[in-house]
Amino acid sequence: VGSGLFGAISARELTDKGYKCLVIDKRNHIGGNCYSEEIENIHVCKYGGHIFHTNKKSIWDYVNKFTPFTQYHHFVRVSYKNKIYSFPINLMTLQQLWGTKTPEEAFNKLESVRVQIDSPQNLEEWILSQVGQEIYETFVKGYTKKQWGKDPKDLPKFIIKRLPIRSTYENGYFSDRYQGFPENGYTDMFDNLLKGIEVQLNVDYFKNKEKYNKLSKNIIYTGKIDEYYDYQYGELEYRTLIHKNKIVDGDYQGCATINYSEEDVPYTRIIEHKHFQPHKAKNNKKSYVMYEYSKPCGKNDIPFYPINDKNNNKRYNSYKKLAAKDKHIIFGGRLAEYKYYDMHQVVGAALKKVKSL
Ligand code: UDP
Repeated sequence: VGSGLFGAISARELTDKGYKCLVIDKRNHIGGNCYSEEIENIHVCKYGGHIFHTNKKSIWDYVNKFTPFTQYHHFVRVSYKNKIYSFPINLMTLQQLWGTKTPEEAFNKLESVRVQIDSPQNLEEWILSQVGQEIYETFVKGYTKKQWGKDPKDLPKFIIKRLPIRSTYENGYFSDRYQGFPENGYTDMFDNLLKGIEVQLNVDYFKNKEKYNKLSKNIIYTGKIDEYYDYQYGELEYRTLIHKNKIVDGDYQGCATINYSEEDVPYTRIIEHKHFQPHKAKNNKKSYVMYEYSKPCGKNDIPFYPINDKNNNKRYNSYKKLAAKDKHIIFGGRLAEYKYYDMHQVVGAALKKVKSL
């Protein structure tokens, strides 16, 4: 159930092991939120920018079997009060903020601004303990509130620990050894993953549950786990994204992603998709620009992010206990495991799961 990364990879692997698989998806396309469309000769990620990155060669080799990836090295800029900064926090950011030029100066400066918190308990405390108040206010506070709709004090620190803090001029968004963007867009990878496998689109599993449950001995379910159990312990919270798009002439912002960290700016980031493929971007006279807004996810919205705070995690654990008893259902992926997975982690989790079957 679901043709996103977890669903498509497990269907591929199980088919190759000799199982007969059927993939159903309630949307009118495959690929879940990775889905891309070609517009104005640009591979547009219709649900916001996706950049594949991993440190594991085996995972990199695996996805490259299904589509060629370019060597795109992701970088991001932050706009705050009309100034553009290098991000994630690195020596250039500190230079722009404070004039700090060397790793040693950066170390000393950060030591002097760091807030002494012995065991940080939440996102706010953790970032304050690393880089102090000014960086927190400039880059993190507003963005995080907009992105999660919660006070950073009420969010777990792992959310921000994804981002590196560097005392060098290296400004790549990820530190991973392998990273890139699919040359033919993500949908091509899903087309290839699902080659030879029956896929039914526009099918709502819950409206046909009996039928599909009877059809197969085992089900891999990649939707929301709370929905699967009819919200019996209450709803888990998710964030959804809204994208406002436009096609413009020329180059809109000069890079793929600019984050807007001020709380007063309603969107979190602007994504200009052609820059995910720099080798093609310079020759393209058009550009596809996407303004990204985050909001609470209603029952009929598309969920993007689980909100892994204490209350939601507790609720999820109740669902997980139910899931453990349902031996013929495998729950996998961001929504079914209620986990803020990156793509490479989903690939790893799906491959591990099917290996055990
Ligand atoms: N974050 C931030 N400022 C930024 C970018 C990220 O404070 O300019 C924080 C924010 O809390 C965000 C988290 O770091 O939710 C993880 O960001 P990432 O870009 O990895 O999120 P994703 O791309 O998955 O939305």
